Amino acid sequence: MLELSDLELVVFDKDGTLSIPKGGARFVQNPKDQVLLKGVSERLAELTASGLKLAIASNQGGVSAGFKRLEDAILEMDYAMHLAGINHGVFCPEMNGGKAFAIEPRSEANGQNTSMPFELLSGGHCTWLSHQISLDDSGEGVWRKPCSGMIDYLCRFYKVDPGKCLFVGDMGSDQKAAENAGAKFAWADDYFGTAL
Ligand SMILES: [Mg+2]
Repeated sequence: MLELSDLELVVFDKDGTLSIPKGGARFVQNPKDQVLLKGVSERLAELTASGLKLAIASNQGGVSAGFKRLEDAILEMDYAMHLAGINHGVFCPEMNGGKAFAIEPRSEANGQNTSMPFELLSGGHCTWLSHQISLDDSGEGVWRKPCSGMIDYLCRFYKVDPGKCLFVGDMGSDQKAAENAGAKFAWADDYFGTAL
């Protein structure tokens, strides 16, 4: 059993873990087409009260596949962060995993790599900064799960040992990403108490 005291950081996959499309489509159709899954709000409130750092790490390959623009992915992350009350999100918009972006509070982003700031779009909840992120030792294609780049980045950002990081997801690629990062893993339906 995972004890909260063993953890410092909990990172969540987004789609199918925290939220699903509100309108019932398979994929999110626009940034606000998202609703939190059952049990998520309650669990996140407990975690927030316990003082753990929380973040979202999402594959957004639909950008490079041409289904959405990068700006849409930023707004989609922003809206999910707003729903979940989580103020740090990282996403990889490329199927080859070559780039990732972070959406984080301006105060926390200070001093980080802000070399590619985005002009945030009207309609978002962002009071935070979105920018491309890097890992000093990153090679090509490290970002998209099952690679561990997004989890590595968040552990380094918060100076948390990966062994004190839990990743919660709903796909084999999530489980593998946690394993590759040296982080703990939990299945979303177990974690939110919705497993049958
Ligand atoms: Mg998922």
